[in-house]
Amino acid sequence: MKTDMDGLILRDLTVGDKDRIITVLTKEKGIISCYVKGALVVKHHAFAATKPLTYSRLCVYRNRGMYIVDQAETIKSFYSLSMSVEQFALSQYMCELAIETTPAEIESEGQLELLLNCLHILVNGLKTDELIKAVFEIRMSVISGNMPNVIYCSGCGSYDSDTMYFDPAANTMLCEKCFGGEGIVCPLSRGALTAVRYIVTADPKKIFSFSVSKESTAQLAQCAEMYMTNIVGKTLKTLDYYNFVSTM
Ligand SMILES: [Zn+2]
Repeated sequence: MKTDMDGLILRDLTVGDKDRIITVLTKEKGIISCYVKGALVVKHHAFAATKPLTYSRLCVYRNRGMYIVDQAETIKSFYSLSMSVEQFALSQYMCELAIETTPAEIESEGQLELLLNCLHILVNGLKTDELIKAVFEIRMSVISGNMPNVIYCSGCGSYDSDTMYFDPAANTMLCEKCFGGEGIVCPLSRGALTAVRYIVTADPKKIFSFSVSKESTAQLAQCAEMYMTNIVGKTLKTLDYYNFVSTM
């Protein structure tokens, strides 16, 4: 039985001379792997639509537990991101993070919508790379069931403090009065805290509809990266590479 699925191609693996196995983030089935026979032949109908960073409509069927792509049609390509080393590195990190945090065979509309939204903002240069990365990390943590505790002080329940101290390993936050100066923590100014609270709770379509200063963005970025790295439980190679090229 053939099924249509809309999905973003996250990465591909060449098999033999002409075939590809692609990893796809789909709305209906989360992360899936698909075999594309003949995909590397330039004249093949699915040549462009099965490239990484392409959002495509795939017609698939199952054979021996594997999805096989029968037809593929491009809906939107983000492949032009590969023209910039830094933007391409960020897109690869976001794709790998999606693979790490999205379940297989489970409906994953939230993850797909978030990644498409972030790639759209990135490819059009609508926000800084640093901010896009932080929004993606924080919101992905929420969608994957790891809501950061950024609402109240974990010590006294206070909502308000000039600086709050977020502990990414413990997922706790302390106000100035409760913080004893210990542990590896991320300080959050009022601006950074307002931004992170917004990202956690915003309507998915309005996730970038806020403004934040450059200084607060730096705090937000540190907090987001450390928290997500703790959730994943390792430093991803694509993150190391992004951090390398973005500081060159
Ligand atoms: Zn407190």
